[in-house]
Amino acid sequence: MRAPVISTRRSAPLALLCAVLSLSCADGGTDGTSDTTTDSDAAAAAADFLGAFDADGLVAPITEEACTLSSGVETTCWRVELKGAPSDHEVGPFCPRSIDDGPESAGIWIESGDVYDVDGAFIVGLADFYNDPEWQLYDEVTGLVNVTDSEASCSAAARPDVDPQYNNYCVECSLDYVDGGIATTVLIPKVPVPIDTPLEIRGAALVGVALNGVAFDPPAPVQAILGAHTIAAFDDCGGHVNLIAGYHYHAATGCSKEVASDDGHAARIGYALDGYAITARVNEDGEEPADLDECRGHTDAVRGYHYHVAYAGENLFVGCFHGDIAASEAGGAGPGGGGGGGGQPPVADCAPGQTSMCCGDGVCDGPETADNCAADCG
Ligand SMILES: [Zn+2]
Ligand SMILES: [Zn+2]
Repeated sequence: MRAPVISTRRSAPLALLCAVLSLSCADGGTDGTSDTTTDSDAAAAAADFLGAFDADGLVAPITEEACTLSSGVETTCWRVELKGAPSDHEVGPFCPRSIDDGPESAGIWIESGDVYDVDGAFIVGLADFYNDPEWQLYDEVTGLVNVTDSEASCSAAARPDVDPQYNNYCVECSLDYVDGGIATTVLIPKVPVPIDTPLEIRGAALVGVALNGVAFDPPAPVQAILGAHTIAAFDDCGGHVNLIAGYHYHAATGCSKEVASDDGHAARIGYALDGYAITARVNEDGEEPADLDECRGHTDAVRGYHYHVAYAGENLFVGCFHGDIAASEAGGAGPGGGGGGGGQPPVADCAPGQTSMCCGDGVCDGPETADNCAADCG
């Protein structure tokens, strides 16, 4: 399960390695953010970043290389090669097999800010849940749930333009279909570069990386999936598999590796694409900070700017990017977002049957080609 397929959907540009802390690379540039950073501070920050990741979740040790941010700023990025398989928890289960199955036999679904167990009772209740009698994911005689339990059915159903044959299915794909994981190379600015107008999450290749080697993906196109009366169930850890992205998270439920803080602050769980840390939602006192900005970030003396991840039901991790991201990861992301991560992409972008509107527009998971268009949004 750990043998990854070495193919990336988020290609990084070939670039020369920068010398560590060379001025041309390490200085983020526009805001003078690194002007007051001493070499020892920078070295400590680098060690903090490198030490946070679980090596078992990575294809190779993290390196650094020259990169260009979406604003054109030249800087140094970490090159993080995710295995695409969690180093610290099992994958699945996703869909229940029978309407008698309890929550331990299935994963979760997220809707309108809440998290639900996708157990047999949830499957039975879908027509009421969505107030739509066309929901019928199970056989009324046998009680068996319609599940995509083959690679072919996963391929046909784990996309926004669901093959009509798989309408009214609980959709799941095994990590075995992608040989245990799809490796993804991600470039993350070594020194975050704050920007005046936050970048929208929508269109970016991904939101960030978890410390266990799994990508935090942009919001799942839930409305498109629901249009075909399908549930692309997540496991209890908030992840699921498609054939393009492999295993990826849409919610943080507390499964993945955490680096505890010794001052009562929420533990670190990953990094956003802009290089700022993402911490758990609540601090040790159980409270979410009251001063989070539209991106779900704030600043303190110990950590500087950082994010507090969103509640799992919100179908997002952070609201927007406070800092610039590598141009190669930007896709269709652009300034002007503000609270751009407010949920799902517009339905029209990924509506069932409207594949052409999805292709090449940078919406959903990232760079799209005619070949991966539909699955890219799954
Ligand atoms: Zn905080
Ligand atoms: Zn997904």
